[in-house]
Amino acid sequence: MVDKARYTTETISDWHAWTPKLFSFRTTRPDGFHFVPGQFVRLGVEKADGTQVWRPYSMVSAPRHDYLEFYSIVVPHGEFTTELARLGGGDKVMVNKVPLGFLTLDRFEGGGELWMLSTGTGLAPFISMLYEADAWRRFEKLVLVHCVRESVELAYRNVIPTLASDAGVPELAGRLVYVPVVTREALPGVLGHRVTRLIEGGELEAHVGLDFDLERSRVMICGNPEMVDDTHALLKTRGFALSKRAAPGQIAVEQYW
Ligand SMILES: Cc1cc2nc3c(=O)[nH]c(=O)nc-3n(C[C@H](O)[C@H](O)[C@H](O)COP(=O)(O)OP(=O)(O)OC[C@H]3O[C@@H](n4cnc5c(N)ncnc54)[C@H](O)[C@@H]3O)c2cc1C
Repeated sequence: MVDKARYTTETISDWHAWTPKLFSFRTTRPDGFHFVPGQFVRLGVEKADGTQVWRPYSMVSAPRHDYLEFYSIVVPHGEFTTELARLGGGDKVMVNKVPLGFLTLDRFEGGGELWMLSTGTGLAPFISMLYEADAWRRFEKLVLVHCVRESVELAYRNVIPTLASDAGVPELAGRLVYVPVVTREALPGVLGHRVTRLIEGGELEAHVGLDFDLERSRVMICGNPEMVDDTHALLKTRGFALSKRAAPGQIAVEQYW
């Protein structure tokens, strides 16, 4: 059991199922809970036997929202998500008081274009960033790549076109290039291969009309660890490096398992 002083218990205020295995939910926001877009927090649920299960989750919502929003998969027999998927409006979720993580814009210096490469629920931190004007003002182009298996898994696709307005910068909406990638359906005009293959073959750059460029590109990668590792390795061969406090580079990553 986690010490009670370390978390608050929040109420689920809203629940949205995208597919039978993907859903988003909102909770009340803990007093004094401050985070930077791109960060995550540990969420806890109580099982029927009274024990707790905790897992890290990226915030989808922005720091200025008066709720917290999360986007989750249901892992078959997953200890946490099996419990979470049973919940609904009015139910309780525990939220650790300390947000964590370095998939944040302050990881980078300079740059003209931000590439946000995600698979599945790895989209979450990028939605949070795009809810805030900072990302829109700082980069001339924002490329949001969301790779899923089937088109029904393109969660937030109806929200994405509204993000610039929501961030208070509707005049910058043209800076966003949204690139859905669907690997198990052939859809006209939609890229259909894994991110690494799209980068290797130059298809992604051609589709977006921008090159991965050491001076201009800053790349965030989030989601499936294989995609994160392989994409990181691929960009490394082009001279890109992980950005560290002591040595600013061009890449920031978050692996979900
Ligand atoms: C920093 C961080 C942030 C995260 N943010 C999110 C988030 O915003 N949304 C979210 O759904 N998950 C997120 N995760 C993953 C999450 O913490 C859990 O792993 C997930 O909820 C499954 O928990 P579980 O106990 O049901 O299964 P687990 O026992 O934790 O995982 C079982 C297996 O399920 C698969 N798996 C786990 N998570 C995912 C996933 N997200 N998508 C596809 N397959 C998965 C993996 O194969 C894993 O080995 C994050 C993980 C990390 C480390």
